[in-house]
Amino acid sequence: MKKDKSILITGGSSMVGKHMKELLSPGYNVTYVDSSYCDLTDPKGVRWLISSYEPDHVIHLAAKVGGIQDNIKKPAEYFVDNILMNTNVVKACQEYNIKRFTGILSTCIYPDVVDTYPMKEEDMFKGPPTPTNFSYGYAKRAMAVQIDAHNKQYGTKYNYLIPCNLYGEHDNFNDDTKAHFITALLKKIKNSNGQLKLLGTGTPLRQFMYAGDLAKIILEVVNRDITESFNVAPDWNYSINEMAEKVLHVIDKKMDIVYTNPELDGQYRKDVSNDKLKKLFPTFKFTNFENSIKKVYNAI
Ligand code: NAP
Repeated sequence: MKKDKSILITGGSSMVGKHMKELLSPGYNVTYVDSSYCDLTDPKGVRWLISSYEPDHVIHLAAKVGGIQDNIKKPAEYFVDNILMNTNVVKACQEYNIKRFTGILSTCIYPDVVDTYPMKEEDMFKGPPTPTNFSYGYAKRAMAVQIDAHNKQYGTKYNYLIPCNLYGEHDNFNDDTKAHFITALLKKIKNSNGQLKLLGTGTPLRQFMYAGDLAKIILEVVNRDITESFNVAPDWNYSINEMAEKVLHVIDKKMDIVYTNPELDGQYRKDVSNDKLKKLFPTFKFTNFENSIKKVYNAI
């Protein structure tokens, strides 16, 4: 990356933001902001932020993100916070003529069920998101609509990436409302003996990616000035039970896996196509699931 290209990263304290910090050596012109520096739900604060930095590229990682139970409990917060943050940031970037903007969505934006899998980028509007994170999914989907609308009306070249579920050693291990599946799983394994209790039935399929891989792709988007929008996910799509077994195998622990609360399965599958990603990044190699899990387990 050219050192003279200035980048502003919202959600600088996020799991993905911390991976980006590791990749960007000092000397690069990068500013990381979190909610204590600027509350992105406040339009005035966002206009101040964007106009005072006027970066070449804004990477918008900030979001209200959480586990399935918190999403079910607080659907209004997930909707309003994400809609406000995204609307304010995209709008301010366009108003202050920021050249490049990359928004980070999630595969939660995709329909609950479609006829054929894996889902391609153009399948986004083929049905509503899954009920368990309907608000979060819709709010994130709205950012895609907003970015496309700005590109059409104002001629901006803004884009969005749609990553699958993430895990990494910088995940929030202390706040259970924010815990993502792999983190919660590793924590449970570390803290229990003999029996591993998991929510749901263990049958849903999920694509998981090491958060450092998403950080690498985002930096390449900046480096190569990529303005297309695309899914970011590896080829593998394991069931929850397969993942739990893989993790136990990698960290060499023996435990009985017990499932409770079958109503908390969430979406059965949401695997997305990485054809577009592979065309843009033909040599990119995803971090192996088994190898990276050990690193994350040791960080807890
Ligand atoms: P995270 O660790 O949960 O961090 C969220 C970030 O958003 C924090 O930096 C937080 O700042 C900031 N934030 C929240 N509310 C804010 C507000 N009102 N104003 C300003 N900043 C605010 O995030 P992550 O899990 O790394 O996810 C990064 C991005 O990837 C998100 O857009 C997420 O939707 C997307 N994504 C995540 C996953 C996943 O499995 N984690 C999967 C797909 C997509 P504070 O630290 O100050 O609160």
